[in-house]
Amino acid sequence: MAGQIMDMPLLVSSILQHAARHFGTTEIVSRRVEDNLLHRYTWRDCEVRSKQLAQALARLGVERGQRVGTLAWNTHRHVEAYYGVSGGGAVVHMINPRLFCEQLTFIVNDADDRVVMFDVSFAALVDELAPQCPQVRHWIAMTDRATLPAMQTRVLCYEDLLASEDGVYEWPEFDERSACGLCYTSGTTGHPKGALYTHRSNVLHAMASAMPDGLGLSSRNVVMPVVPMFHVNAWGIPYSSAVVGAKLVLPGRALDGASVYELIEREKVTFAAGVPTVWLALLNHVEQAGVRFSTLERTLVGGSALPPSMQDAFQDKYGVQAIHAWGMTEMSPLGTVCKLSASLAERSPEAQQHSLRKQGHALFGVDMKIVDDHGTELPWDGTTFGDLHVRGLWVIERYFNHDESPLKDGWFPTGDVATIDADGYMQITDRSKDVVKSGGEWISSIDVENIAIAHPGVAEAACIAARHPKWAERPLLVVVRKPGAHVTRDELLEFYVDKVAKWWIPDEVVFVNELPHTATGKIQKLKLRAHFADYLVE
Ligand code: ADP
Repeated sequence: MAGQIMDMPLLVSSILQHAARHFGTTEIVSRRVEDNLLHRYTWRDCEVRSKQLAQALARLGVERGQRVGTLAWNTHRHVEAYYGVSGGGAVVHMINPRLFCEQLTFIVNDADDRVVMFDVSFAALVDELAPQCPQVRHWIAMTDRATLPAMQTRVLCYEDLLASEDGVYEWPEFDERSACGLCYTSGTTGHPKGALYTHRSNVLHAMASAMPDGLGLSSRNVVMPVVPMFHVNAWGIPYSSAVVGAKLVLPGRALDGASVYELIEREKVTFAAGVPTVWLALLNHVEQAGVRFSTLERTLVGGSALPPSMQDAFQDKYGVQAIHAWGMTEMSPLGTVCKLSASLAERSPEAQQHSLRKQGHALFGVDMKIVDDHGTELPWDGTTFGDLHVRGLWVIERYFNHDESPLKDGWFPTGDVATIDADGYMQITDRSKDVVKSGGEWISSIDVENIAIAHPGVAEAACIAARHPKWAERPLLVVVRKPGAHVTRDELLEFYVDKVAKWWIPDEVVFVNELPHTATGKIQKLKLRAHFADYLVE
C-alpha cells in the first residue's frame, strides 16, 4: 500500500528556495576576486541572481543535463553557479584550477563542458585552454564590464548576462536522480575520473551533514568554507549552510593566514572548514601576530589527517575545537565526522582525547567496513586494520564516462587502510599505496608523520617507504624545518623514543626546503617516493 505523503523531488533548488524564503535576510559575504573588496548580500538576493543565471544559460542554449564548468574561487558568484546551473537542470562541473593544463584540457573535454565560467584570475589559463577545448561554446568571465580582462579568447561578461534577465523564473521540477554536479578526482595515478552527483545525493548529503554529530550547523552559525568550492563541493557547505539558513562567508582567493584571520574576525565566523595546510598557515599567523580568535568556535579539518599537535594547538591555545572529518570525492565527500558520543563522554579525558583524534563516526547515509585481501570483514576492535569499503546514499556507483563498476560486492573500495573500534570510530592509518611494509608488517605513515609534526622545529613532514635490503621497506622521514629552526636528524629520531614501537622509528631523516603538494594541498608522496625510494640502499 502506498503512503499518502506529498511526493516532492529532492532538488538543490529547493534548498536555495528554503534559505531565501525562511532566512531571506541572512547574509552571504564574499571577497571579490577582481578587487579583493567584500561583497555583501542575502540568501534572498542570491536566489534572484541564481534564477537570472539559469535564465541566461537557457538563453545561451544550455540544455538539461549539459555540463557547465566553473574555474572559480569561493565567492557569491560561484554559489550562484552551484544553484543557477543545477537548479535550471544543467550540471555544474567544478574544475580544480590548480591542476596542470593537460589535466584541465582532459577534464573539460571529458566532461564535454559547453560553457565554462571563470574568475578573472584565471584569464591567462582560459586563453591557454580555449584553443584545446573546441566544444566549449561560451567562456564567461565572472565579473562586471569594468573589470573584464583583455584576453585572446572571446568571452562573455557574467554581470551583463545577469543584468539582461529579470529573475522571474520558476525552478523546474524533474527527477531527483538527475545529474546535478560533477567533480574530478585529482588523478595522482592516470587520468582524473569524474564523480557525477545527483540532486538527491546532494540534498541528502546536505541534510545529514548539517546534523549535530555531523557539522552541527544552525542558523545561528557564521560558516566559512576555506576548503575550495572546486574541491568536492566545498564539502557540501554551500548546500548545508542554506539548509539551516546560516550566514555564509567566502574568502575568495585570499587563503593566506592573515587574510583568513581578518575575515574570520570581521565577519564573526563561528565555524570554518578546511584542509590542514590552510590551518597551519592560519595558526602560524595568529601565533606570530600574537592575536586571538574572538568568535571562532569550531574548525572542521579533513582532506588529509588532522595532526594531534594541530588539534591541541587550536584547543589549548585558542579554545577552538578542531573536529576531524574524513571523506573523498567519490563520497560527495563526507563519510565520517568525529564527535563525542554518549558512551565516550563517560570515559576519562585521556580516553576521550584518544578517540577524538580519529576520523570518526559514520554519518547516517553511509555504511563502512574493513576487509582483508579476500574481502572478508574484519573485527571492529580498534587495532585490526584493513581496506576500508563504503556504501551509501551519496557514494558513487561508477565513474563518469566509465562503464566498468569500481564496486566490490556492492561496496566502494576507498583505497584507504583503517581500523574501526568497538564504539564505531574509524581511524585511517594510511592510503593503501602509502603504507610502509617492513618485514611484512605494516607501519602507519600517518602516525609517524604526526609525531614529527609535533616537534617544535618541524613545519611539515612526510613518511615514505624506502627500499631496504633486509626488511624490503623501511620508513624514511622527509622534513621541512620551521623557519629559524635547527633540529637535527638525531634529535628528531630521539623524539620518537617512547612514542612508538621501536621498529616504527624511521631509519633516516632527509631535510628539504619544501614538500611537493597535489592540487588539493596534500603531500605528493608518489613524487617523494620516486625521488627517495633508494635512499637507504645507496
Ligand atoms: P584527491 O586524492 O583527488 O584529493 P579526495 O580529495 O577525494 O581526492 O581525497 C580523498 C582521500 O583523502 C581519502 O581517500 C583519504 O586518503 C584522504 N583523506 C581525506 N580526509 C582524511 C582524513 N581526515 N585523514 C586522513 N586521510 C584523509
